[in-house]
Formats: sequence, structure tokens, C-alpha cells
Amino acid sequence: MTERPPPLAPGSVIGILGGGQLGRMLALAAAELGMRCHVYCPDPQSPAFEVAAAHTIAAYEDESALKSFAAAIDVATYEFENVPATAAALLARLTVLRPGVRALEVAQDRLAEKIFVRGLGIATAPFVAVDTRDDLDGAIAEIGLPAILKTRRFGYDGKGQAVIRAAGDGDAAWQAIGGTPAIVEGFIAFDREISVIAARGCDGSVEVYDPGENRHVDQILSSTIVPAPIGDAAAAGAVRIARSILDGLGYVGVIGVELFVETLGPETVLRVNEFAPRVHNSGHWTSDACVTGQFEQHIRAICGWPLGSPRRLADAVMTNLIGDEIGTWTAHAADPMSKVHVYGKTATRPGRKMGHVTRLIPGKARPGPRGE
Ligand code: AMP
Repeated sequence: MTERPPPLAPGSVIGILGGGQLGRMLALAAAELGMRCHVYCPDPQSPAFEVAAAHTIAAYEDESALKSFAAAIDVATYEFENVPATAAALLARLTVLRPGVRALEVAQDRLAEKIFVRGLGIATAPFVAVDTRDDLDGAIAEIGLPAILKTRRFGYDGKGQAVIRAAGDGDAAWQAIGGTPAIVEGFIAFDREISVIAARGCDGSVEVYDPGENRHVDQILSSTIVPAPIGDAAAAGAVRIARSILDGLGYVGVIGVELFVETLGPETVLRVNEFAPRVHNSGHWTSDACVTGQFEQHIRAICGWPLGSPRRLADAVMTNLIGDEIGTWTAHAADPMSKVHVYGKTATRPGRKMGHVTRLIPGKARPGPRGE
């Protein structure tokens, strides 16, 4: 553990790149600690603006707007991983950027991410880099079928992906992803998908939340169930993996690590699919079920405060309210054990995350697999 720098005092200004629901919930948590947030986002309708002390509407490529933003804040962070590298580098030069540029560089490129994770001795799906259409057939032969072709950059919620089931699917898959640099991954017959939310402070201390099981509908996260029913050994393994990634990146802030849980004979194998260098949708339950939620934890970490306890006080099920599902808020509001979160987005669209609800199931919480 390194020495902790002086913490930012209440009244300090946190700059947040990105004005979506994650930025909004970060700003709300920051306000509870007496911090002020300045949100930077090109979208004038950003849900984070209405809960932040200040905002800038400008492109991420606008150098002069970024410079003014940097001059107005004490620390910068981001709520999405596709922050342009030039914007991140500029902010890192002019102010303190947490998490740093390295975390973004690795997380923005699936190939770099998989190489990094594997370099830590952590399992991933088998993968091969594919730069051209010609590379694809060799990659499929090496990985075997079925396989998944994924763009190296800008993929999320299953976008930029194509499943390859037969050798003749190469052309269609290459076209489907727009013929850009990619990786081919082996298809993992996982039992379930889980994620681990974890945080690393400025002093190198690490706190990890209990792993949750993630269920997707149309490749968008639908619900997170905590604790994930994976047994203590696998849960402890997932916690170790998160810690190792945080330390390996010299990270400061909250991270979301997504894993596949696979049974191979008598063994349970954990494979990292990807990580997000930010607060994560599958960690929303922490705000209602834990001593310290992920948003407060991120603010604590980037401000150089001691990390709070991630201890879970209840079992929980977090359900995203997507598109028209936001209309069910009245039913959730009538459930005394549910916490309803509405993001204040002006337009409802299919597939758009409009809110979420965390249903608490008290009395079953047990000490988590932390504290190793
Ligand atoms: P991703 O964009 O990498 O998060 O992938 C979106 C979803 O596709 C994941 O949540 C999985 O359900 C599925 N998926 C991705 N990669 C694989 C893989 N190698 N094997 C099986 N399913 C996968």
C-alpha cells in the first residue's frame, strides 16, 4: 500500500465526462458527500445535468472547452469507456484523471484487454486477432466452431458482434461487423454470467462487492441477482480476479468486471469477458443493499478518501426498466421492499435504459467472500 495523498475536501469540484444515468447517479452520490459536480457532455438533454452544480455542452473533441473544464475542476472522471484518447490525454495533463489513461486504453480495445487479462494469469475465452477478411478463415480454423467475431473497439450490449456457426458464415459475419479490426473468440458454453464490482483507492486499498448473476434479454442487461449462486470458492476466485485487474492497472475508482462461469468436469472455471473502467449497471444494487454503494465508492476513491465498506446488508434483485417498462414504476413504488430509480430521460425509446428497481430481500445476507 502506498501513502494516501491528502483527500479532496467537501466543496471540491468533480468533473464528469458523460451525462447519462451513470453520471447522474455519480453526481447525486457526490452531492451527499458535499462535493460539487461539473458534467461535460455534448447532449443538451443529458440526465446528469439537472442534478449537477455546473455543466458544459461541448464535443469531446473540443479542446478549448476541455481546457476550460479542466480549469474549473479538482479531479476528472468519466462514466463511459469510449472517451476519445485525445480528450483523456488532455485532461490527464491539465488535471488529475481517475481512473487513468491506461485503464481506458486497455478497456477500449478488446484485443489489448484480453492480452492484459491473460497476462495476469486470468482465463478468458480463447481468442485470435483478425485484422482483415483473409485472417478470418485461419482464425476460425484455430478457434473452432461455434465462434464469435467481435470488433476490437466500440462494441457494447452485443453490438459489433456476429456469431459464426458454420465455416461458410465468415463473409456474413465480416460484413455484419463492418469489416473492421476484430477478434474471434471461442464460444463459451457458460452456466451463468456474473460480474464483480470493485474499487481501488489512491492508497492502493481494494474493496470488492459480492458477485452478482447477470441475466440479459436481447443482449441488454435485464437483471442482476445477488448473491450469484456460484458457491464460496468461485465467488472468492472472482474477487481475487477483480483485485488482480485493479492492481495490474494501478487503478483508482470503481470497476465492473464481467465473467463467464463454466463447469468443466469437476472444475468451475471463471473467464473474464470484459471489464468496464467505471461504475457499472450490474452494480446498481449496491446503492440500496450495501453500506457503501458503488457511486459513493467511486467518489470516495477518486477524491482520495478512504474506501467505504462494500458489506451487503440484504440479498437483492436489480431489474432494469428498459423502454416502456418504465411505465411499471407505480407497481414497484407500491412494493415497500423495492427502491425505484428513474433517470429523468425525456424520451422513451425501445432498448433505452430509463430506470431500475432494486428489490431487497433481507434476512438472508451472509458475510461475503471478501477479507482475504
Ligand atoms: P460482450 O459485448 O462481450 O459483453 O458480449 C455480449 C454478450 O454476448 C455476453 O454478455 C454473452 O452473453 C455473449 N457472449 C460474448 N462473448 C461470448 C463468448 N465468447 N461465448 C459465449 N457467449 C458470449
